[in-house]
Amino acid sequence: MAFPFLISIMENKLPIIFTAMENKLKIYDSLSREKKLFEPLNPPFVGLYSCGPTVYNEVHLGNLRTFTTFDVVYRYLTHLGYKVRYVRNITDAGHLTNDAGEGVDRIEERAKLEMLEPMEIVQKYTNSFHDVCREFNILPPSIEPTATGHIVEQIEMIKRILNNGYAYESKGSIYFDVRKYMEQHHYGKLSGRNVDDLLENTRELDGQEEKKNAADFAIWKSVAPNHIQRWQSPWGEGIPGWHLECSAMSCKYLGKQFDIHGGGMDLKFPHHECEIAQSVGADGIEPVRYWMHANMLTVNGDKMSKSKGNSFLPRELFDGKHELLEKAYAPMAVRFFMLQAHYRSTLDFTNAALQAAEKGFARLMNAYHTLQALTYVSGTTVQSEIDEVNTLCNDVYEKMNDDFNTAEAIAVLFEMAKKINSYKEGIIAISTIDEATFNKLKETFTAFIKDILAIDKEDTTEDASIADGLMNVILELRKDVRAKKDFAASDKIRDELLKLGIQVKDGKEGTTWSKS
Ligand code: AMP
Ligand code: ZN
Repeated sequence: MAFPFLISIMENKLPIIFTAMENKLKIYDSLSREKKLFEPLNPPFVGLYSCGPTVYNEVHLGNLRTFTTFDVVYRYLTHLGYKVRYVRNITDAGHLTNDAGEGVDRIEERAKLEMLEPMEIVQKYTNSFHDVCREFNILPPSIEPTATGHIVEQIEMIKRILNNGYAYESKGSIYFDVRKYMEQHHYGKLSGRNVDDLLENTRELDGQEEKKNAADFAIWKSVAPNHIQRWQSPWGEGIPGWHLECSAMSCKYLGKQFDIHGGGMDLKFPHHECEIAQSVGADGIEPVRYWMHANMLTVNGDKMSKSKGNSFLPRELFDGKHELLEKAYAPMAVRFFMLQAHYRSTLDFTNAALQAAEKGFARLMNAYHTLQALTYVSGTTVQSEIDEVNTLCNDVYEKMNDDFNTAEAIAVLFEMAKKINSYKEGIIAISTIDEATFNKLKETFTAFIKDILAIDKEDTTEDASIADGLMNVILELRKDVRAKKDFAASDKIRDELLKLGIQVKDGKEGTTWSKS
């Protein structure tokens, strides 16, 4: 059972939102291929795992689409009152250059290229990933475990798989025995792959002769002594197989079976298929109750990926310097652009689509700011108006409860925005609704903008460039008054800026400013 040590806290009263929304959320489970009512194993606790980045380079916008999806899942479940333990790992070992489980460790390869220690590469790109997450309002998970921090747990899991007869040793590596597993279980059920084809496939691959079957995958891979990334194991020095870390770490922090496992669609096979086989092979238990897969961000219909050379980096959007972009875009406009599509649909990334999203985003945020400034005035109420607003407030939750359909939830928010603008402009008197309905509208709209879609972060890119521009103007004016030896005026500017927390420094190279 997951979270046995937390059971004592389960006596706590459930929050009001939780009881109101309970048993309404449906999640599309990629394994059973149907929408299922969400029933957590141990309510109000929810265990959520999503595959994190391999930190060998900067994340691109495709990666961010998937991380944003699971950020919204995390935020919505939390909003409903669930106590979510969200685990999102950092892959810092074991992910080889070829997804078929061959090649060299990606971190090691990058370390050689940049002439850095592998752990410097890991730190560098983990920091950069965290910076980007902050920009995009992606919350840190509850636990962010690394593969290298869990070598012991991975070795223990390999031992359990070996003991159950589902793996074999070959030249210091341990392979998962797919044919053996297939005698009792179904390898391929998540991805729909026909494993008989895989079993008969005799492709010549590097290291292939070590395996009994082409479909077998390494759960421990022996490496030569000249590799920097290598760890001791009962089978000699090596690295854990990439798929193993997620099985070992989800099991450690969420239990042998847990509620939701997420990742991009491209991870269904082999990564998630192998995760299921490993967990069943080690502990005889189906690990995941709801498998969620986010669809791909595409460019002209092609999956965005580093290897295809069609990826966009977040900073290329913020400075607008990519050749396919006409201008810079703020992180929140991009987040909104992503959420305007349902996570199971593909989303094509174009300058025109971004520009349209930016306009919609501005309209929604204007309504949000208008709403914050609106004051309720009582008068004669109109029942049909009250009903309309209450229906919108319920609808937006209904849409989210339908497999986190942010696209349709946003459409309802636009309807709410129309109402808000009508109240402001006096087209409809605010008194036509009662105060409780007004408060519900304000609470619901605000919760969606701030806590669930989380698109209200300050537009730092634009603000920062405006602040830069203004400071340049002020410092130029100050230079002029100093040239005229009007030091009283020059000091006044400096002192007034200091009161705003801005420090002006006159040096040999000119005048600089910083926030104090
Ligand atoms: P990686 O670092 O390659 O393991 O990828 C991190 C996450 O990004 C995984 O969940 C991938 O499925 C996801 N991902 C990679 N490319 C895309 C894309 N073009 N669109 C959406 N998600 C992606
Ligand atoms: Zn994973």
